[in-house]
Amino acid sequence: MEALRFQVVGEAFKKKPLEVKTPSERPCEYFGKKVFNREKMYKYLPKNIYEKMVNVMDNGARFDREMADAVALGIKQWATDNGVTHYTHWFQPLTEGTAEKHDSFIEHDGKGGMVEEFSGKLLVQQEPDASSFPSGGIRSTFEARGYSAWDPTSPVFIIDDTLCIPTVFISYSGEALDYKVPLLRSLHAVNVAATDVCHYFDPTVKKVTSNLGWEQEYFLVDEGLYAARPDLLLTGRTLMGHDSAKNQQMDDHYFGSIPERVAAFMKELEIVALELGIPCKTRHNEVAPNQFELAPIFEETNLAVDHNMLLMSVMKRVARKHGFRVLLHEKPFAGINGSGKHNNWSLSTDNGVLLHAPGKTPEQNLRFAVFIVETLMGVYRHNGLLKASIMSATNAHRLGANEAPPAIISSFLGKQLSELLDHIEKSDKDNLLVMQGKQGMKLDIPEIPELLIDNTDRNRTSPFAFTGNRFEFRAVGSEANCASAMIALNSAVAEALVEFKKRVDARVKVISSQFDSAEHNATYHAIIEVLREDIKTCKPIRFDGNGYSDEWKAEAERRGLDVETSCPVIFERYLDESSVKMFEGLGVMTRKELEARNEVKWETYTKKIQIEARVLGDLSMNHIIPVATDYQSKLLKNVENMRVVFPAEKADSLSDRNIKIIEEIANRTSSIETMVDELVEARKVANKIESEHQKAIAYHDTVAPMLDTIRRQIDKLELIVDDAYWPLPKYRELLFIR
Ligand code: ADP
Ligand code: MG
Repeated sequence: MEALRFQVVGEAFKKKPLEVKTPSERPCEYFGKKVFNREKMYKYLPKNIYEKMVNVMDNGARFDREMADAVALGIKQWATDNGVTHYTHWFQPLTEGTAEKHDSFIEHDGKGGMVEEFSGKLLVQQEPDASSFPSGGIRSTFEARGYSAWDPTSPVFIIDDTLCIPTVFISYSGEALDYKVPLLRSLHAVNVAATDVCHYFDPTVKKVTSNLGWEQEYFLVDEGLYAARPDLLLTGRTLMGHDSAKNQQMDDHYFGSIPERVAAFMKELEIVALELGIPCKTRHNEVAPNQFELAPIFEETNLAVDHNMLLMSVMKRVARKHGFRVLLHEKPFAGINGSGKHNNWSLSTDNGVLLHAPGKTPEQNLRFAVFIVETLMGVYRHNGLLKASIMSATNAHRLGANEAPPAIISSFLGKQLSELLDHIEKSDKDNLLVMQGKQGMKLDIPEIPELLIDNTDRNRTSPFAFTGNRFEFRAVGSEANCASAMIALNSAVAEALVEFKKRVDARVKVISSQFDSAEHNATYHAIIEVLREDIKTCKPIRFDGNGYSDEWKAEAERRGLDVETSCPVIFERYLDESSVKMFEGLGVMTRKELEARNEVKWETYTKKIQIEARVLGDLSMNHIIPVATDYQSKLLKNVENMRVVFPAEKADSLSDRNIKIIEEIANRTSSIETMVDELVEARKVANKIESEHQKAIAYHDTVAPMLDTIRRQIDKLELIVDDAYWPLPKYRELLFIR
């Protein structure tokens, strides 16, 4: 009997690229077509309501109930003009994905017929039956219900026949049950803190925005092959599979020409994404075979997070149309690169200044240095927490491997920026601040060419690298919600800026009382003093060397950086006193919310490993061992027949190789069997543990390592068992779309 594998491989090989209709309009014309953006607001809302909406979106003014009905009416008109019949509150529960429950617009009209209705109340608030979303016990302990409420800073959009309303998701007692609530709180915190610090340099600054430009990596596999791999289907990654003889060693995939079937998929994906207002810009092949990347132009962080969540779900739908499945798992295949989601992050002011970009004047460069150093301070103080913010059962495979950022958070600055910080640190105060005449003053901060900063000198091994006018947080996982990393980063930087301002202000007072120089000069004096202290303090986070080397691990430990690699232990950093103090102090999350979230993290970790263990156990017993044994019987028959045909001695010598294989199969299958029994036993022991925290640790320490040892045996069997018998599509078949 021929393995099903051959059939699906054959079919995959024959598939042709799908014809994609190119819209008659240009991209800039259909961009945002499916979004209730300003242009549509202007068209569909009364003038006074439009102006109120702009005030809500730009200045965080309150969205009051009186406006809600008028806005809802405009939205409904626009939606029905576009063939929409349903609406949903679209939110981001702690499960990583997005959630939606669709309701149609229709209501009884009281005269036996139906009308389509959409009131302000429905726009603003909904009560999804949310008892099955993870809440870490918040809802069961405190209040049974949760509700979703519109976040007017993210515009509503249309998918198919449904109006999607981006919402926050909170419990009735007010705790956040999603990613968006703490994200919005952290964006507020960093806005307030950074605006205050900006005022030292420019009193007209009204608002500081956090920007995010994500780069999404992903794999594609043919749908038929995917369906024939229960491990991919159920866990998102291959739990077994021997290396393909050729994979990424030739580096011929990276930036190579895009296979036609894939190009058609990308083309359609971009059209759909642009219509949804996602400003897609870049697409290319990645390092591993079948690995690709998509990156939009950066946006305000809340919107960028929504757009990433939206893109991930749109991607899955479009891929299926083209006969593909998207793999967003961080490590779908062993032995080749995994996928990440680089988070390019920066702060900018309402008058258009990128605070992480060098300026033209010494004052601007002092401000630049302040924002760079205080970002580093935040990252240094909370390096363990930042690692926790990007850690997951799936991303753990990637961190520490020789491709991704290591499991230690450090920051690469490059030569020019390092020299600037060294200059500020080393030259004494009088060198930096030269007094000229009466009120004049000159800062000796070296100039940096704006288009600098060694674009060539990029360090790919750094998890948090400065790249010219932003930092690139590269450790984020490809399937993660970017919000998790952005909450931690914006909070850490907000805290550093608040502390910075406190110390500068205190210093200004002291300096002003000692000298009777103008207050402005006292401020610069104080800023330079505090900055110099901070440059010294956060030095351990700066590392420009090879993040993959063993020496770095030892060195990082000496520097006091967090070098923990166990995922459930890393989660503990959320409950460190320093983290709780920061989140509570900034009003981002309470201790209760943090505790609840950690319960969810631990539980999710356990479940993921548990499912992998079950799938691997089943595949071992139902697929691998029977097939290997079958092949072994065939060899045994052959050995037996040799003895019929040839004299014993000759028969034995001719059967030498087969006998070795027979033995090897016997040894490997029996060791798989034993290990699967042990795996079941380890799970039983872990399952009895009451605490989610300890259970996750047990799964990490006892269950997870066995997945690898079992896999090793299976991968060896794959090499010796007749190809015609092997049931699962092999790496060489999964990984090369033609
Ligand atoms: P790479 O060379 O790392 O692939 P790209 O030039 O493709 O980088 O840009 C990656 C992302 O960084 C894009 O989304 C881009 O818009 C974004 N980006 C550029 N400048 C900034 C900035 N100042 N702040 C935040 N994101 C930025
Ligand atoms: Mg990048």
